[in-house]
Amino acid sequence: MILGGSADANRLVGALARDPRINAVLSYAGRTENPTKPPIPCRIGGFGGVQGLVDYLRSERIDRVVDATHPFAAQMSAHAVEACAAAGVPLLALDRAPWQKQRGDHWIEVDTMEQAVAALGATPRRVFLGIGRQQLELFAAAPQHSYLVRLVDAPRAPLPLPQVEIVVGRGPFTRANDGAMLRRFGAELVVAKNAGGEATVAKIEAARDLGLPVVMVRRPATPPRPTVTSVIEVLDWLDQAVAPMERGV
Ligand code: NAP
Repeated sequence: MILGGSADANRLVGALARDPRINAVLSYAGRTENPTKPPIPCRIGGFGGVQGLVDYLRSERIDRVVDATHPFAAQMSAHAVEACAAAGVPLLALDRAPWQKQRGDHWIEVDTMEQAVAALGATPRRVFLGIGRQQLELFAAAPQHSYLVRLVDAPRAPLPLPQVEIVVGRGPFTRANDGAMLRRFGAELVVAKNAGGEATVAKIEAARDLGLPVVMVRRPATPPRPTVTSVIEVLDWLDQAVAPMERGV
Protein backbone atom coordinates (compact mmCIF):
# COMPACT_ATOMS: atom_id res chain seq x y z
CA MET A 1 0.00 0.00 0.00
CA ILE A 2 1.18 3.46 -0.91
CA LEU A 3 0.13 6.27 1.43
CA GLY A 4 -0.22 9.07 -1.07
CA GLY A 5 -1.13 12.71 -1.41
CA SER A 6 2.14 14.01 -2.83
CA ALA A 7 3.83 14.49 -6.20
CA ASP A 8 6.33 11.78 -5.20
CA ALA A 9 3.50 9.34 -4.54
CA ASN A 10 2.07 10.06 -7.98
CA ARG A 11 5.45 9.35 -9.60
CA LEU A 12 5.81 6.12 -7.64
CA VAL A 13 2.31 5.01 -8.55
CA GLY A 14 3.06 5.69 -12.22
CA ALA A 15 6.06 3.36 -12.02
CA LEU A 16 4.14 0.65 -10.12
CA ALA A 17 1.36 0.69 -12.70
CA ARG A 18 3.95 -0.56 -15.21
CA ASP A 19 5.10 -3.46 -12.98
CA PRO A 20 2.71 -6.42 -13.24
CA ARG A 21 4.44 -8.23 -10.34
CA ILE A 22 3.28 -5.71 -7.76
CA ASN A 23 -0.31 -5.53 -6.68
CA ALA A 24 -0.41 -2.02 -5.24
CA VAL A 25 -3.18 0.05 -3.74
CA LEU A 26 -2.95 3.81 -3.31
CA SER A 27 -4.48 5.37 -0.21
CA TYR A 28 -5.29 9.03 0.04
CA ALA A 29 -7.09 11.13 2.57
CA GLY A 30 -9.67 12.56 0.19
CA ARG A 31 -9.07 16.25 0.88
CA THR A 32 -8.80 17.25 -2.81
CA GLU A 33 -12.13 17.47 -4.62
CA ASN A 34 -10.99 16.30 -8.05
CA PRO A 35 -7.79 14.33 -7.58
CA THR A 36 -5.94 13.18 -10.66
CA LYS A 37 -7.22 9.67 -11.42
CA PRO A 38 -4.51 7.21 -10.35
CA PRO A 39 -3.43 4.42 -12.72
CA ILE A 40 -3.71 1.79 -9.95
CA PRO A 41 -6.57 0.83 -7.59
CA CYS A 42 -7.11 3.28 -4.75
CA ARG A 43 -8.95 3.69 -1.48
CA ILE A 44 -10.01 7.06 -0.09
CA GLY A 45 -10.42 8.35 3.47
CA GLY A 46 -8.86 7.96 6.91
CA PHE A 47 -8.45 4.52 8.49
CA GLY A 48 -9.80 5.58 11.87
CA GLY A 49 -6.52 6.06 13.73
CA VAL A 50 -3.73 3.60 14.42
CA GLN A 51 -6.00 0.65 15.27
CA GLY A 52 -8.03 1.22 12.12
CA LEU A 53 -4.85 1.10 10.07
CA VAL A 54 -3.67 -2.07 11.84
CA ASP A 55 -7.03 -3.69 11.06
CA TYR A 56 -6.80 -2.60 7.42
CA LEU A 57 -3.26 -3.96 7.02
CA ARG A 58 -4.38 -7.31 8.42
CA SER A 59 -7.70 -7.63 6.59
CA GLU A 60 -6.20 -6.62 3.23
CA ARG A 61 -3.09 -8.73 3.88
CA ILE A 62 -0.78 -5.86 3.01
CA ASP A 63 2.85 -7.04 2.64
CA ARG A 64 4.58 -3.65 2.60
CA VAL A 65 3.71 -0.02 3.19
CA VAL A 66 5.33 2.98 1.53
CA ASP A 67 4.68 6.27 3.25
CA ALA A 68 4.79 8.76 0.38
CA THR A 69 2.60 11.36 2.07
CA HIS A 70 3.45 15.05 2.01
CA PRO A 71 6.23 15.93 4.49
CA PHE A 72 3.72 17.95 6.54
CA ALA A 73 1.29 15.03 6.95
CA ALA A 74 2.93 14.25 10.30
CA GLN A 75 0.00 12.48 11.91
CA MET A 76 -0.45 9.98 9.09
CA SER A 77 3.29 9.27 9.10
CA ALA A 78 3.34 8.70 12.87
CA HIS A 79 0.31 6.41 12.63
CA ALA A 80 2.02 4.42 9.87
CA VAL A 81 5.11 3.84 12.03
CA GLU A 82 3.01 2.66 14.96
CA ALA A 83 0.56 0.54 12.97
CA CYS A 84 3.19 -1.16 10.81
CA ALA A 85 5.16 -2.08 13.94
CA ALA A 86 2.03 -3.50 15.56
CA ALA A 87 1.01 -5.47 12.46
CA GLY A 88 4.56 -6.61 11.61
CA VAL A 89 4.46 -5.00 8.16
CA PRO A 90 7.70 -3.47 6.80
CA LEU A 91 7.45 0.29 6.23
CA LEU A 92 9.55 2.56 4.03
CA ALA A 93 9.17 6.33 3.82
CA LEU A 94 9.73 8.20 0.57
CA ASP A 95 10.73 11.59 1.86
CA ARG A 96 12.29 14.20 -0.38
CA ALA A 97 14.97 16.50 0.95
CA PRO A 98 13.86 19.90 2.25
CA TRP A 99 14.75 23.00 0.23
CA GLN A 100 18.04 24.59 1.26
CA LYS A 101 18.53 28.31 1.49
CA GLN A 102 20.51 29.64 -1.48
CA ARG A 103 22.39 32.86 -2.19
CA GLY A 104 19.81 35.61 -2.66
CA ASP A 105 17.21 33.98 -0.37
CA HIS A 106 15.86 35.94 2.58
CA TRP A 107 14.21 33.30 4.74
CA ILE A 108 12.64 33.83 8.13
CA GLU A 109 12.50 30.26 9.43
CA VAL A 110 9.83 29.28 11.95
CA ASP A 111 8.58 26.00 13.43
CA THR A 112 4.82 26.47 13.28
CA MET A 113 2.23 28.28 11.22
CA GLU A 114 1.28 30.30 14.34
CA GLN A 115 4.85 31.60 14.39
CA ALA A 116 4.58 32.38 10.67
CA VAL A 117 1.53 34.55 11.35
CA ALA A 118 3.44 36.43 14.07
CA ALA A 119 6.48 36.84 11.79
CA LEU A 120 4.42 38.93 9.34
CA GLY A 121 4.55 41.77 11.88
CA ALA A 122 2.13 44.54 12.79
CA THR A 123 2.59 46.73 9.70
CA PRO A 124 0.07 45.92 6.91
CA ARG A 125 1.77 43.93 4.13
CA ARG A 126 0.78 42.21 0.91
CA VAL A 127 1.36 38.51 1.56
CA PHE A 128 1.28 35.43 -0.68
CA LEU A 129 0.15 32.28 1.14
CA GLY A 130 1.31 29.15 -0.69
CA ILE A 131 0.49 26.82 2.20
CA GLY A 132 -2.61 24.90 1.17
CA ARG A 133 -6.01 25.21 2.79
CA GLN A 134 -5.81 23.61 6.20
CA GLN A 135 -4.17 26.35 8.25
CA LEU A 136 -5.50 29.46 6.54
CA GLU A 137 -7.80 30.29 9.51
CA LEU A 138 -4.72 31.08 11.59
CA PHE A 139 -4.12 34.17 9.45
CA ALA A 140 -7.44 35.62 10.64
CA ALA A 141 -5.37 36.66 13.68
CA ALA A 142 -3.48 39.09 11.38
CA PRO A 143 -6.30 40.85 9.47
CA GLN A 144 -4.19 43.95 8.80
CA HIS A 145 -2.47 42.21 5.86
CA SER A 146 -3.78 41.67 2.32
CA TYR A 147 -3.49 38.06 1.24
CA LEU A 148 -3.15 36.26 -2.06
CA VAL A 149 -4.01 32.61 -1.42
CA ARG A 150 -3.33 29.78 -3.88
CA LEU A 151 -5.52 26.69 -3.52
CA VAL A 152 -6.03 23.45 -5.46
CA ASP A 153 -9.83 23.77 -5.17
CA ALA A 154 -11.89 26.96 -5.06
CA PRO A 155 -13.18 27.31 -1.47
CA ARG A 156 -16.87 26.51 -0.93
CA ALA A 157 -17.23 29.09 1.85
CA PRO A 158 -15.61 32.53 2.12
CA LEU A 159 -12.19 32.44 3.75
CA PRO A 160 -12.00 34.05 7.22
CA LEU A 161 -9.62 36.76 5.97
CA PRO A 162 -10.96 40.29 5.40
CA GLN A 163 -8.66 41.20 2.50
CA VAL A 164 -8.08 38.15 0.36
CA GLU A 165 -7.72 37.24 -3.29
CA ILE A 166 -7.80 33.60 -4.34
CA VAL A 167 -5.99 31.94 -7.20
CA VAL A 168 -6.85 28.33 -8.02
CA GLY A 169 -4.05 26.17 -9.38
CA ARG A 170 -2.42 22.77 -9.14
CA GLY A 171 1.35 22.27 -9.36
CA PRO A 172 3.83 21.87 -10.85
CA PHE A 173 4.20 25.64 -11.13
CA THR A 174 6.83 27.57 -13.08
CA ARG A 175 9.22 30.20 -11.81
CA ALA A 176 8.19 32.65 -14.54
CA ASN A 177 4.45 32.32 -13.85
CA ASP A 178 4.89 32.51 -10.09
CA GLY A 179 7.09 35.60 -10.55
CA ALA A 180 4.42 37.23 -12.70
CA MET A 181 1.73 36.34 -10.14
CA LEU A 182 3.71 37.82 -7.24
CA ARG A 183 4.51 41.00 -9.22
CA ARG A 184 0.91 41.51 -10.32
CA PHE A 185 -0.31 41.19 -6.72
CA GLY A 186 2.50 43.42 -5.46
CA ALA A 187 3.55 40.78 -2.93
CA GLU A 188 5.93 41.93 -0.22
CA LEU A 189 6.23 38.58 1.58
CA VAL A 190 5.75 34.89 0.81
CA VAL A 191 4.70 32.26 3.36
CA ALA A 192 5.64 28.67 2.52
CA LYS A 193 6.09 25.25 4.10
CA ASN A 194 9.46 23.65 3.48
CA ALA A 195 7.98 20.85 1.41
CA GLY A 196 11.05 20.26 -0.78
CA GLY A 197 10.78 18.81 -4.29
CA GLU A 198 10.17 20.35 -7.67
CA ALA A 199 6.40 20.79 -7.89
CA THR A 200 6.06 23.87 -5.68
CA VAL A 201 9.60 25.29 -5.55
CA ALA A 202 8.74 27.92 -8.17
CA LYS A 203 7.35 30.33 -5.58
CA ILE A 204 10.63 30.16 -3.64
CA GLU A 205 12.67 30.80 -6.78
CA ALA A 206 10.34 33.63 -7.81
CA ALA A 207 10.67 35.22 -4.35
CA ARG A 208 14.46 35.01 -4.74
CA ASP A 209 14.25 36.65 -8.17
CA LEU A 210 12.16 39.49 -6.75
CA GLY A 211 14.17 39.87 -3.52
CA LEU A 212 11.12 39.04 -1.38
CA PRO A 213 11.45 37.60 2.11
CA VAL A 214 10.00 34.11 2.64
CA VAL A 215 8.54 33.07 5.98
CA MET A 216 9.52 29.40 5.78
CA VAL A 217 7.86 26.90 8.09
CA ARG A 218 10.23 24.07 8.99
CA ARG A 219 9.01 20.48 8.74
CA PRO A 220 7.27 18.78 11.63
CA ALA A 221 9.15 15.92 13.29
CA THR A 222 8.32 12.31 12.39
CA PRO A 223 9.28 9.22 14.39
CA PRO A 224 12.41 7.46 13.11
CA ARG A 225 11.69 5.09 10.21
CA PRO A 226 13.60 3.68 7.25
CA THR A 227 13.64 6.44 4.66
CA VAL A 228 14.72 6.91 1.05
CA THR A 229 14.57 10.00 -1.13
CA SER A 230 13.91 8.62 -4.61
CA VAL A 231 11.29 6.51 -6.39
CA ILE A 232 13.99 4.20 -7.73
CA GLU A 233 15.04 3.29 -4.18
CA VAL A 234 11.45 2.41 -3.32
CA LEU A 235 11.25 0.19 -6.40
CA ASP A 236 14.47 -1.56 -5.33
CA TRP A 237 13.02 -2.15 -1.85
CA LEU A 238 9.83 -3.60 -3.33
CA ASP A 239 11.92 -5.76 -5.67
CA GLN A 240 13.61 -7.30 -2.64
CA ALA A 241 10.15 -8.38 -1.45
CA VAL A 242 8.96 -9.62 -4.82
CA ALA A 243 12.05 -11.61 -5.85
CA PRO A 244 11.84 -14.22 -3.03
CA MET A 245 8.10 -14.60 -3.66
CA GLU A 246 8.82 -15.28 -7.34
CA ARG A 247 11.29 -17.97 -6.28
CA GLY A 248 8.59 -19.42 -4.01
CA VAL A 249 10.52 -18.61 -0.84
P1 NAP B 1 -2.27 14.35 8.62
O1 NAP B 1 -2.59 15.53 9.46
O2 NAP B 1 -0.97 13.69 8.81
O3 NAP B 1 -3.39 13.24 8.75
C1 NAP B 1 -4.64 13.45 9.34
C2 NAP B 1 -5.48 12.20 9.13
O4 NAP B 1 -5.89 12.12 7.76
C3 NAP B 1 -4.73 10.90 9.37
O5 NAP B 1 -4.66 10.59 10.75
C4 NAP B 1 -5.56 9.93 8.57
O6 NAP B 1 -6.81 9.68 9.22
C5 NAP B 1 -5.91 10.75 7.34
N1 NAP B 1 -4.93 10.59 6.27
C6 NAP B 1 -3.87 11.38 5.96
N2 NAP B 1 -3.23 10.93 4.88
C7 NAP B 1 -3.89 9.80 4.49
C8 NAP B 1 -3.69 8.87 3.44
N3 NAP B 1 -2.71 9.01 2.54
N4 NAP B 1 -4.57 7.83 3.37
C9 NAP B 1 -5.58 7.68 4.26
N5 NAP B 1 -5.81 8.54 5.28
C10 NAP B 1 -4.97 9.59 5.38
O7 NAP B 1 -2.39 14.73 7.09
P2 NAP B 1 -2.81 16.11 6.40
O8 NAP B 1 -1.71 17.08 6.64
O9 NAP B 1 -4.22 16.40 6.80
O10 NAP B 1 -2.74 15.68 4.87
C11 NAP B 1 -3.79 14.93 4.31
C12 NAP B 1 -3.34 14.42 2.95
O11 NAP B 1 -3.01 15.53 2.12
C13 NAP B 1 -2.12 13.51 3.03
O12 NAP B 1 -2.35 12.41 2.20
C14 NAP B 1 -0.99 14.38 2.51
O13 NAP B 1 -0.04 13.60 1.80
C15 NAP B 1 -1.72 15.37 1.61
N6 NAP B 1 -1.07 16.70 1.58
C16 NAP B 1 -0.81 17.35 2.76
C17 NAP B 1 -0.21 18.58 2.72
C18 NAP B 1 0.12 19.33 3.98
O14 NAP B 1 0.73 20.40 3.88
N7 NAP B 1 -0.22 18.82 5.16
C19 NAP B 1 0.15 19.15 1.48
C20 NAP B 1 -0.14 18.45 0.31
C21 NAP B 1 -0.75 17.23 0.37
P3 NAP B 1 -7.01 8.40 10.18
O15 NAP B 1 -6.33 8.77 11.47
O16 NAP B 1 -8.51 8.33 10.30
O17 NAP B 1 -6.41 7.22 9.52
